[in-house]
Amino acid sequence: MSFEELRKKMVKEQLEQRNIKNKEILQVMSEIPRELFLPLELANLAYEDSPVPIGYGQTISQPFIVARMTEILEVKNTDRVLEIGTGSGYQAAILSKLAKVVFSIERIGELKKFAEENLKKLNIENVFLMRGDGTIGLSNYAPFNKIIITAAAPQIPKNLIDQLAEGGIMVLPLGDISLQVLTKVIKVDGQIKIEKYDYCRFVPLLGKYGFFESGV
Ligand code: SAH
Repeated sequence: MSFEELRKKMVKEQLEQRNIKNKEILQVMSEIPRELFLPLELANLAYEDSPVPIGYGQTISQPFIVARMTEILEVKNTDRVLEIGTGSGYQAAILSKLAKVVFSIERIGELKKFAEENLKKLNIENVFLMRGDGTIGLSNYAPFNKIIITAAAPQIPKNLIDQLAEGGIMVLPLGDISLQVLTKVIKVDGQIKIEKYDYCRFVPLLGKYGFFESGV
């Protein structure tokens, strides 16, 4: 099967049949070539129903989790989005097609470069990549309408709550190092409301408000 056929099959079997309903997300995920976001030698795993290693002990998330988090985030075409944990750049690429602008922070310099190259292949120009500890956020560019953390977080980083716009939504895998729950944080009248979704398992968020001090 060609990558395109595998991609369509993934969207049908892993997303639609598991209740991902947002038509725009299904459309975008049937268009963005996920194989371009993997190390060459692992491109054949692009449409597997699982995370895939991208080097440096990190992974590109399972397609279903990318779709689910994007759906919970309720992205609009006027949104400024902040992502913590760029990794391969795949999640940022999906967001770039749904939002106005995406800022994404990665702590590993080599991965930031990898993501930069991947996004360039698709001529994506509304994603801005930064290297650093994303748990601190990006106060110069705040507020953000949406914030997505794509690494396992032991707490909701305080700075990120502050940088979320009124009415904004943050999605993160919240829990301990071995198991987390996809959590939606909504900011209403300066207060936060919390909703819980699926169980998941991510690589750890490191840094000031992560599991350990990251040293970046
Ligand atoms: N969204 C990515 C997958 C992310 S894997 C994709 O679509 O491919 C999680 C990433 O978070 C890893 O690359 C890891 O290095 C990064 N990370 C962990 N802690 C971080 C922090 N404090 N700030 C920024 N990036 C962090």
